[in-house]
Amino acid sequence: MAECLVVVGGGAAGFFAAIAAAEANPSARVLLLEKSAQYLGKVRISGGGRCNVTHSCFDPRELVEFYPRGGQELLGPFTRFACGDTMEWFEDRGVELKVESDGRVFPVSDNSETIIQCLESMADAAGVSRETQSGLKNLVRLDSGMWRVELESGASIDADRVLLAPGSSKKIWDVLSGLGHRIVPPVPSLFTFNIRDPRLAELSGVSVSNVRVTVPVGGLETEGPLLITHWGLSGPAVLKMSAFGARWMADQDHRFTMYVNWLPQFEAEDLIEELNSLRKDVSHQRKRVLSNAMFGIPLRLWRSLGAFARIPESANWSDLSKPQLRKWAEVLTESAFTVVGKSTNKDEFVTAGGISLSEVSFSTMESRVVSGLYFAGEVLDIDALTGGFNFQAAWTTGWIAGHAMAGSPI
Ligand SMILES: Cc1cc2nc3c(=O)[nH]c(=O)nc-3n(C[C@H](O)[C@H](O)[C@H](O)COP(=O)(O)OP(=O)(O)OC[C@H]3O[C@@H](n4cnc5c(N)ncnc54)[C@H](O)[C@@H]3O)c2cc1C
Repeated sequence: MAECLVVVGGGAAGFFAAIAAAEANPSARVLLLEKSAQYLGKVRISGGGRCNVTHSCFDPRELVEFYPRGGQELLGPFTRFACGDTMEWFEDRGVELKVESDGRVFPVSDNSETIIQCLESMADAAGVSRETQSGLKNLVRLDSGMWRVELESGASIDADRVLLAPGSSKKIWDVLSGLGHRIVPPVPSLFTFNIRDPRLAELSGVSVSNVRVTVPVGGLETEGPLLITHWGLSGPAVLKMSAFGARWMADQDHRFTMYVNWLPQFEAEDLIEELNSLRKDVSHQRKRVLSNAMFGIPLRLWRSLGAFARIPESANWSDLSKPQLRKWAEVLTESAFTVVGKSTNKDEFVTAGGISLSEVSFSTMESRVVSGLYFAGEVLDIDALTGGFNFQAAWTTGWIAGHAMAGSPI
């Protein structure tokens, strides 16, 4: 009788795994079970509806740096299937891709439906049987070594091997705990910081191309573009910090003090010297400080920071006293903000936490606790920065797990 391979979860990881398994073992019966009414829900909304499929980062050692959790474990898998392979996979199947200036990869159509149609038609072509509204309720190991997949409908399926790709799912993590797996408690990652501060009022939409953000007590530091929003601060520097500090920030209930250096090319002392030389420069002396933004800082932000440093509206550079220069340099390099909570980053968010990685073999994605059980995607304690890296983890782990469960490891 044909082997029965069950993949649980019709998201990016589940589809990729099911296709890989069915293509690698055409004689097996591959069944893809999705709890909700539609497949690939997150792919549909991803990247603002455009689906940032992967990133044009082709060196596995560089690639793993984008994973606050799971980077070390993914190094081996990325030498076998990484961003270039994902691009080739989709392009070979008729999806034209483009690389944007920041390295993110999207379908040329700018429409996530292109990716969904490709995955669905490839699953059908490979002979994957798929079912929506078919949620897994429990998994039981039978004496025969087979797995009994119990569904929410009350039905059950006996499978030779099972692959779990349900994303962040408390229910599945509970089932896995029951089988002896350790689950790292889930916390949100990739969020923006809520800050109520008069310096930022009226500045929503203003962005700065490069700042340094630090949270000394958490040992956190990032650099990159910053965006001021209605609720506080966002942009790559903040999102990156939210990912690397996800667990520490959850422990603080997302309340802490952060510092922004608006001019990361300067430390406070160097900037005092720079401002002092501006004060002495004849071409600057008669210029109003607050009317002439410098160093690429947007004028509205410059004025707001200047007001906080108590620079008078009418002051010229030559009017500034040494203490005023000192205060001005401090505000420009060490603005303290009180974070009072977090907001969802609508473009992309993920959960840190999941199946403990030490209990998974990354050569096959098989459980080290119970045999015949495989994992792929966000159900694992793996997450990444924004930019296509989260999908890449789903494609890579799905590809490896799918081949391994089909009896044809790569
Ligand atoms: C708004 C948003 C935008 C994003 N944009 C991007 C992006 O552009 N690029 C990027 O790299 N990442 C992006 N991400 C992250 C990315 O979507 C996830 O990393 C990725 O979807 C994880 O894939 P997965 O298959 O592991 O899980 P999911 O996509 O969550 O899929 C899991 C599937 O399993 C199903 N399921 C759950 N429980 C059961 C059960 N008991 N039985 C059967 N089925 C079950 C779920 O319904 C779901 O369909 C975005 C995330 C969000 C929220």
